Amino acid sequence: MSPHQSPFERLRKKFDDSELRCRHCGYRDDSGWNVSTSGDWVEYRFVCSSCDAVETREMRL
Ligand SMILES: [Zn+2]
Repeated sequence: MSPHQSPFERLRKKFDDSELRCRHCGYRDDSGWNVSTSGDWVEYRFVCSSCDAVETREMRL
């Protein structure tokens, strides 16, 4: 893993690898996580296009 990779990119890659599948209905949504930032926090939001379940993760940079 490159030391020059930002924490942002690292987290995104982690989600892309393992959490593209809806935990409610099992639908795999390749559009992945939407990311928004506010100050030191990053919010990741995953909306299932099959059942509309929403998952969010918040992480501090
Ligand atoms: Zn779903």
